[in-house]
Amino acid sequence: MRARDGDGRDAAEAQAALGAVLPPVLAPDAVIYAPEIKYYSYRVPVDATWQSRDIPRLYVVGNAAGYTASLSAAALTGVIAARAIAHGASANVP
Ligand SMILES: Cc1cc2nc3c(=O)[nH]c(=O)nc-3n(C[C@H](O)[C@H](O)[C@H](O)COP(=O)(O)OP(=O)(O)OC[C@H]3O[C@@H](n4cnc5c(N)ncnc54)[C@H](O)[C@@H]3O)c2cc1C
Repeated sequence: MRARDGDGRDAAEAQAALGAVLPPVLAPDAVIYAPEIKYYSYRVPVDATWQSRDIPRLYVVGNAAGYTASLSAAALTGVIAARAIAHGASANVP
């Protein structure tokens, strides 16, 4: 089967070109999958601590909030929210 991209170029040619700079791509056990489609248009309204602006005490972190698209950025939102939650919890301790 021959796959073609939007420009009509042969996918095998694209793979060969990619393999010239990234040889592991040409390995027999290499798996190439496509397309990958991502939607980031929906954004949950959150404040600087990733707390929902609409539902108090609900924190929306990671890519689910719609602002991040990587492991580190998604993880960072969790750290920020966790610190805010912990700070709020300790502030409520008598
Ligand atoms: C093929 C691929 C390659 C990638 N490569 C990179 C890369 O090289 N570098 C990089 O920085 N990022 C990469 N990413 C992006 C990265 O994986 C994401 O940005 C990151 O995982 C987002 O983290 P997250 O915690 O927001 O969501 P996720 O990692 O998706 O975690 C969400 C979790 O919630 C669970 N879940 C969903 N619905 C429910 C439910 N109703 N109840 C309970 N659990 C639920 C899911 O099972 C999942 O475990 C890649 C993504 C893909 C798909």
